[in-house]
Amino acid sequence: MSAFAAVLAAACANLPDHAAAAKPSPCPSGPTFASGADRATLWMRNTSEYRAMTETIYRAALASLSEGLADPSWTAEPSQAGDLSALPPAVVMDIDESVLDNSESEVRLLLQGTCFDAFPASWDAWVAERKAPAVPGAVEFIQSARTLKDPAGRAVRIFFVTNRECARRPASDAACPQQEDTAANLRSLGLGTDALLDELLVRGERPGWDGEKLSRRQEIARGYRIVLNIGDDLADFLPDVRRQTVAERDLARCVRDAFWGRRWFMLPNPVYGSWLVATGPDLTKSLAAEPDVLQTCPRP
Ligand SMILES: [Mg+2]
Repeated sequence: MSAFAAVLAAACANLPDHAAAAKPSPCPSGPTFASGADRATLWMRNTSEYRAMTETIYRAALASLSEGLADPSWTAEPSQAGDLSALPPAVVMDIDESVLDNSESEVRLLLQGTCFDAFPASWDAWVAERKAPAVPGAVEFIQSARTLKDPAGRAVRIFFVTNRECARRPASDAACPQQEDTAANLRSLGLGTDALLDELLVRGERPGWDGEKLSRRQEIARGYRIVLNIGDDLADFLPDVRRQTVAERDLARCVRDAFWGRRWFMLPNPVYGSWLVATGPDLTKSLAAEPDVLQTCPRP
C-alpha cells in the first residue's frame, strides 16, 4: 500500500457510517448537521472562512518571498546554507490542496458512500479529468511570484513537488499520464510555462522519487535557492513524519519553528493527510488523547 493510500485508508476508517448517520439524532432539537469527513469537505468547499484563510496565507507568502529574494542567505531548504547568491531563486509547492482543490472528488466519494476500495480508480479518473479548480489565492500567488526577481535579476521559478503518482493507464502509451494531466490542469488555470513538465516533479517519475519529497527538494536545491516551501501536510516540509506519533511529529514541527510563516507556509486541510496516520483509526481513543502532547515550542 502506498503512503498516500495508507493516508486515505486511515481517513476512511474515520468516515461516518452513512447508514448510522440516518438514525434519529440523539439531539433532536439541534440542527441536522454534517459530521466528520462530511463536515471537513463542506468547510473546504463551501465556506468564506476557508477562502479567506488560504488567501491570507498566500498573500503573506508573497510578502515573505519578496523579503527572502533580497537576502542571499535566505533558504527554505535546511540542507542549504551560507551565501547562496550563485543560485537562481525558486519556490517549491505541493499540488493537492495547495494549488489544486480536489474537493469535488471527495464529494463524489461521500455522496456515493464509497471509500477506500473505490479510491485508487476514482482518484486516477479525477486526475484524468484535468478540471480541479485552484485553491483560492494560489493562482495570484504563482503569477505574481514569477514576475519577481532576485538582486541579480533572475526570475523566480516555481517547482511543483507532488505525490500524484506515475502509473500506466490501459488506454495510454504515456509513461506518466498523470504528469501530463496535472500540467494540463495547471495550464487551464493560467499557470503554464514552456518548461512546465520539467517543473512538475511527480512521484515515481525517476528512481528514488518515492513518497518522501526530500530527494526531489534536494534535486531542486542543487540548482536553485529554494526561497519558500508551500504545502498542506507536514510531510511536504519534513521527512519521515508519516511514520511518527503525534508527539514526534510535533517535536519535528518545533525544531523548525522559525521557518513557519517565514519560509514555510502551511495551508489548511482537515479532510486528509499524514496527520490521520498519526492520530490513528480509533476516533474515540484519538479524541481522548491528552492534548498536551502538542508542544509550545521553546523560544530562543
Ligand atoms: Mg497536498
